[in-house]
Amino acid sequence: MQRVVLALMLASLMLLQGCLGGLRDGLADALPEQRGKPGGLTLACLSSSQFTEMVIEIDHAPGYAPEASTVQLLTERLDDVCDKPDGIRAVITETEFNHSGAWSAEDVRDQALAYREAPPMDGATLRWHLLFPAGGYDDDSVLGVAVNAADVAVFRDSIDDAENILRRPSAEDIENSVTLHEVGHLLGLVNLVYTSPRDHEDPDHPGHSSNEDSVMYWAVDSSSLGAIFSGELPNDFDDDDRADLEDLASGDLEARDQLWRP
Ligand SMILES: [Zn+2]
Repeated sequence: MQRVVLALMLASLMLLQGCLGGLRDGLADALPEQRGKPGGLTLACLSSSQFTEMVIEIDHAPGYAPEASTVQLLTERLDDVCDKPDGIRAVITETEFNHSGAWSAEDVRDQALAYREAPPMDGATLRWHLLFPAGGYDDDSVLGVAVNAADVAVFRDSIDDAENILRRPSAEDIENSVTLHEVGHLLGLVNLVYTSPRDHEDPDHPGHSSNEDSVMYWAVDSSSLGAIFSGELPNDFDDDDRADLEDLASGDLEARDQLWRP
């Protein structure tokens, strides 16, 4: 009986952590390079005082290239909210990751470090790094994770499994929304590195929006989304998300845990 209770507690803890795989452990502090937590490079994206250009490095396993619509959506949305006068571009590379089986947050960190072309703060270029590996997360209800300030993984195998029988939303729609959702965590949404004056964080799902029309809605990176949404998935930030980012950019809202400040 006790063992069952413990297993349930562990399972609910894992659910709570959800897609913010690395947020609550201290591993990043032990690494020689400070890799921060999701939201740690928010100001680096919102400001152009040092980083005038942004590269989205996408490393994918053979057969796991992201949809063109995902890359386009990501570039457009980041261009909307970040200040990058010299542009935002994606660099896509097929990669044989040195990993098999399920992925932990630590695996994502290790492989992201092993295969990146350059560090996140690279002269005048800010680089965020997305992995599209084969296989799923060790909590297989998770479709994507943000593991530190610049690194994200999106699990296409789990996305395919999450597609409902009507294919509404389709796996492509899910990949679009999950990828933008994880990058939204790199932007610090919701309340990861600040405290919003707007009441839009879901009390039961820390770090997520309570608005089902926001891409930061808590169910977006969970395998239950096929059951929760029928038809359209949110694929944009909502007014509250955008207002938070505007306040952070202007300095009206204080950002915590930043690896870089203007
Ligand atoms: Zn999330």
